[in-house]
Amino acid sequence: MTVRGASAAMPGHTNEIVVKAATRHVNAPIRVTIFGMRVALSIAGSDPTGGAGLQADLQVFRALGVHGAGVVTALTVQDSSKVHEVLPVFPNVVLAQLRKLFADFTPDAVKIGMLASDDVARMVELGLRSLGDAPGERPPIVLDPVFEASDGTRLLERRALAAIQDLVGVTTLITPNLSEAQALTGCDVSTEEGSQLAASALVMNLGAMAALVKGGHRDGPPHDLFAEREGGSVSFTWLEGERIAGEPVHGTGCALASAVTAELAKGASLRDAVDTSRQFVAKAIRNAKRLGKRARFLSYTSDDT
Ligand code: PLP
Repeated sequence: MTVRGASAAMPGHTNEIVVKAATRHVNAPIRVTIFGMRVALSIAGSDPTGGAGLQADLQVFRALGVHGAGVVTALTVQDSSKVHEVLPVFPNVVLAQLRKLFADFTPDAVKIGMLASDDVARMVELGLRSLGDAPGERPPIVLDPVFEASDGTRLLERRALAAIQDLVGVTTLITPNLSEAQALTGCDVSTEEGSQLAASALVMNLGAMAALVKGGHRDGPPHDLFAEREGGSVSFTWLEGERIAGEPVHGTGCALASAVTAELAKGASLRDAVDTSRQFVAKAIRNAKRLGKRARFLSYTSDDT
């Protein structure tokens, strides 16, 4: 299919940004819970170190003043050096967790992280249908398509690609890194134009409302590309990023997606949620601390809230 997209230049290049994504309020139900806090749900794998996965998501939710609910999709055996083992949760148990939860209350926003297997990914898609079929009925959904850990261990079986592509169609925002964007769309993302093509495909072909293609693995400055559907086309904005020196930091992708989810749960517009979250994670990287033998862990100080 033809993708009509406005083009945008990378910050620092001769042209400044030529198209700015419009700030738009996500059509989320506005509710105040009985205990006065918005609720964000993370559907993610367990990381016993607390640096990534569900445990990290819940810490981000709390740091941003949102109650965190969690559905576990997989157990992992890991430490700060590597992921040693992955054990998907029984798919029917993932579905049961989602159905029971949604029968009880509706979260204000949902984050999807590591799904591990094709069967689990399919059950998550099925479970989310209880939230309604139309985008306006569902709370905002943020999808972090976790394919591999930084050490190269696969966190999603290869045959699950089609299931993840199906999930993209229900998402408000998908937050792939470069290789995930390439795997999902088949576009070569090594150039700016290629990244824009991939972002367009995520929105126009696979059906996400918006995509944030993260540039952390790009040669040179790690600018992110934000692409958002506007009517029948896509608008692009390159968001300037700065490489923060230091030893590797664990769980940055999880933290960014869960921060966006928390902000959306609080009612922020998508663009504001993305901007706030990028700053939040940059600060947590600057404050990162070593806990175990290798990767550093993100650290949230009280003035983040
Ligand atoms: N473990 C879990 C449960 C995760 O969700 C992730 C990333 O999403 C990781 C490990 C890998 O984290 P990192 O890429 O920082 O190695």
